[in-house]
Amino acid sequence: MADRLKTVLLFGAPGAGKGTQGSLLGSIPGYFHMSTGDMFRSLDKESELGQIFFEYSSKGELVPDEVTLELWHTYVHAQAILGMYKPYSDLLILDGIPRTVAQTTLMEQYINVLGVVHLSAVNPDDMIARLQNRALEQNRVDDAKEDIIRNRLEIYERETRPVLNHYDQSIVHEIDAIGTLGGVLSNILKVVAPIQDTCHTKPAEV
Ligand code: AMP
Repeated sequence: MADRLKTVLLFGAPGAGKGTQGSLLGSIPGYFHMSTGDMFRSLDKESELGQIFFEYSSKGELVPDEVTLELWHTYVHAQAILGMYKPYSDLLILDGIPRTVAQTTLMEQYINVLGVVHLSAVNPDDMIARLQNRALEQNRVDDAKEDIIRNRLEIYERETRPVLNHYDQSIVHEIDAIGTLGGVLSNILKVVAPIQDTCHTKPAEV
């Protein structure tokens, strides 16, 4: 990629609502929402990568960094070729990546992080209830069992939360994840709309 991709990270623990808010944001022209959880779930379950994903996600664990990064890069490149993502005008909204400090470092050559939206202040019991409801609705094995959810939350605290320290705190925005969909979306837009306004000028190649 010649120019780094203009990016905002949607950050937060499992159950904080990143996917829901990311989809809403992605429905607005000028934002391209990319969720690595959705990317992994769309893999053919019989394929080698699909099997690797199942092996880790069924235990609530993260897929190894190298595999994740390679797939992420291929996916973003493909979306750009297909015209779904327009790197020169769209703001890339990343949901679920980077999820470890190693991923953060590996991704630096590709993305220019202009903002981090941290959906926060959700208590663990609320999150567990949210995840279990969603598991029933969407048939997601990783969120069906309480011990797997607790493992996901522990991994978030240990592996993912430290990613926040990697960025200049002036670009990290704390947003209360509890509220109506519209209320939370409105707070996110107050952060990302001014960033998007600055993104129309320079072309980027994937
Ligand atoms: P999510 O829907 O974002 O919670 O992701 C579901 C599962 O996909 C996670 O529990 C991981 O197994 C895998 N996954 C998603 N994003 C990543 C990532 N950035 N690094 C490693 N594993 C990931």
